[in-house]
Amino acid sequence: MADRVYNFSPGPAVLPLAALEQAQRDLVALPGVGMSVMEISHRSKTFDAIFTETRQLLAELIGIPAGYTMLFLQGGASLQFAMLPMNFLRGVEKPADYVLTGTWGNKGKEEAEKQGQVNVVWDGKSHNYSYLPTAADLKLSADAAYLHVTSNETIQGVQFPGDPKFGTAPLVCDASSDFMCRPIDIRKYDVLYACAQKNAGIAGVAVVILKDEMLERTATGLPSMLDYQLHAKNDSLYNTPPVFAIYMLMLVCRWLKNDVGGLAKMEKRNREKAKLLYDVLDACGGFYQGHARPDSRSLMNVTFRLPNEEVETRFLTEAKTHRLIDLKGHRSVGGIRASIYNAMPVEGVKTLAEFMTDFQRRNG
Ligand SMILES: *Cc1c(COP(=O)(O)O)cnc(C)c1O
Repeated sequence: MADRVYNFSPGPAVLPLAALEQAQRDLVALPGVGMSVMEISHRSKTFDAIFTETRQLLAELIGIPAGYTMLFLQGGASLQFAMLPMNFLRGVEKPADYVLTGTWGNKGKEEAEKQGQVNVVWDGKSHNYSYLPTAADLKLSADAAYLHVTSNETIQGVQFPGDPKFGTAPLVCDASSDFMCRPIDIRKYDVLYACAQKNAGIAGVAVVILKDEMLERTATGLPSMLDYQLHAKNDSLYNTPPVFAIYMLMLVCRWLKNDVGGLAKMEKRNREKAKLLYDVLDACGGFYQGHARPDSRSLMNVTFRLPNEEVETRFLTEAKTHRLIDLKGHRSVGGIRASIYNAMPVEGVKTLAEFMTDFQRRNG
């Protein structure tokens, strides 16, 4: 589409054009319904069909076996930071283990500390979260209520290369910024959650996938809206769910299945895209300084610095003239961050890689 830019925003982020166009066609009136999805009852047959398709697509794409429950909750990933320890740490005589790999891992830990005992089993602070630990680096508790990891740190641009396998405590993963970027083995996880607005849709819904055993361990006396068990019993329809956000999630899942061809194909495409940028970093002779150590590089958020802030500002200004938008890094890392989520087209990344090479030639 001619007037769309290449949007490298970290989130809310680029959506597949197919999903936007479908939403546009259905916005005023869903075919055969004569009303938009925003105007119908969440208990109507129409919404039930949307909700069912969304669940089925997610289960199929991710490969979720029996024995797991999928919830659709509001409050974003940030509410999960609190809800998780409220359900699984409150009143428990055990610590929760937290792996601090960047900004989001820290935020999760801070919320858990309000609910119970937290043991930081690894903290990458000394190197500003530029690489990830291996199992041998972690100082695990003997008997943790759970172990929390962040599969992709959106701000620092570090991502675990695969499903982490750390100890025996229930594994909880914040997968907000790499949800469905590649196949995972969900059986390795006891809880996996992700807000939708990075890689799967729009703000307003978070997907929480829990092993059914976990639902038997939730704390009692929680406010209803913060109780996983209650949401599970009500099939995520305890109160009005975010209907439009769920509908957008469905459209993105349809795109992943029908246009992309599933998560293995998605991963291949994501690897190609990330390689285009990391190849520039590796070949530039130090003009671009990658933040992440090569073994911890993210497929989703590519972070790097230029020789000084003045050159960085010029880079951002010139990038805009090539329709390359929202590349400014987070202040805690500085420099540039190119978020290249699933929906970022290959051409967008190619355009950025070419611009980077040309910019260095003129400024190096
Ligand atoms: C964006 C993000 C969050 C916060 O998500 P909200 O929906 O804004 O609360 C948490 N974790 C990670 C990894 C993120 O990228």
